Amino acid sequence: MGREKFNGEVRGGKTFITSRYYAYLDRFFDCEENCKYKSEEPIIDEETGLQRFYYDEVYNRSVESLARMAGYLDLVSSWEQTEDCRIVVVNNAAKNGPYQLVRRGREVNIRLYTRIYAYNGNRESLKVKDIKPFESEEEWKEGWFGSKKEAKGEDYRNYTFYELLIAGIQKWEGVYENQYQKYREPWWNDATTICYDDFGLDGAVSVKIEVCVPTGEHPKGNRVYMFDNREGLINMDAYDDYSGERFSIEESYNWSLNWSYDRWSILNVGTVLLFTRLKSDKRKYDHSYKSSGFLSMISHEFGHVWGLHDAYDKPDKMGWNEAAETKEVSKDNIMRSNKRVQPNDIEMILEAWKYNKRQRYADFYYKLEIIPKSQAVKYKEKGD
Ligand SMILES: [Zn+2]
Repeated sequence: MGREKFNGEVRGGKTFITSRYYAYLDRFFDCEENCKYKSEEPIIDEETGLQRFYYDEVYNRSVESLARMAGYLDLVSSWEQTEDCRIVVVNNAAKNGPYQLVRRGREVNIRLYTRIYAYNGNRESLKVKDIKPFESEEEWKEGWFGSKKEAKGEDYRNYTFYELLIAGIQKWEGVYENQYQKYREPWWNDATTICYDDFGLDGAVSVKIEVCVPTGEHPKGNRVYMFDNREGLINMDAYDDYSGERFSIEESYNWSLNWSYDRWSILNVGTVLLFTRLKSDKRKYDHSYKSSGFLSMISHEFGHVWGLHDAYDKPDKMGWNEAAETKEVSKDNIMRSNKRVQPNDIEMILEAWKYNKRQRYADFYYKLEIIPKSQAVKYKEKGD
């Protein structure tokens, strides 16, 4: 609750807070001084004419019941972590935010409100779904999201840019199993059991993602800018530096995702810029608009939206460490080389959401301070 932990107990299937009840209510109703439940003005009951106090209404109610009263029930997550430990998370601030994650048992439902802007070259294209593959896959046009069908799986050749975007997001869906296994390297004394605590008693989570368009009642959304610049190469750096200005739109909390400091929160998941083609180094960036590479690059960018840092090496960034290459963060990991979502990534997403804090794959040394990696990263590194 608001990054603070409270203890409680389960009675009759409901969860009751037993400690620091006032502080808990402060967090629950997100209030400081003038909170309704603290009011000393009595409420006169319309039917009986008797007076009562708002505080009486909220006192000793279960978390679930309070959430219903406050209109947050849809944001209550709960699961049994062990035989005698239930975790309940209420991210009430997420109610109107762009990113909502709700966990019930093994079901993890992510809802992302997002507004998508499409550009054909420099022109804004009003119909997002207009950006299509080239009609013919002529040699000089160098294809569009792959001129060949993938060896296995979906045939993406006729997908529009928009459809690829959605497919890239959906790559995060699936069932992720805990990896209960003993893992031992010769330099360790003891074997380590890898256990993703956040997967709970079931030892598995099933991730589903819903992409919604912001509405009048729910105006906040993250933003995605899609640029089809196949006909003209773009130097990405220019967009990095000016993205804040170029795209400042009212109530903007714009920031591009590759900035080094942590501005991520469940209320501000960042702005995603997608280009069909980057920089002038043709060969190196060829993959950006070819099938599976392009698709999984999109997935990678949404990894940042869910609160994950990069796992790959950044030699020009002081203090930055690459993730140790282990089974849980393999060389194919989606945040390292854009290929595969692993169970550990999902646990990191759960951590990011639970603590409202972006997660790192390795310690980061910044201004003589160590910003530690995610607790979800369990495998030891050599020398630990
Ligand atoms: Zn990245």
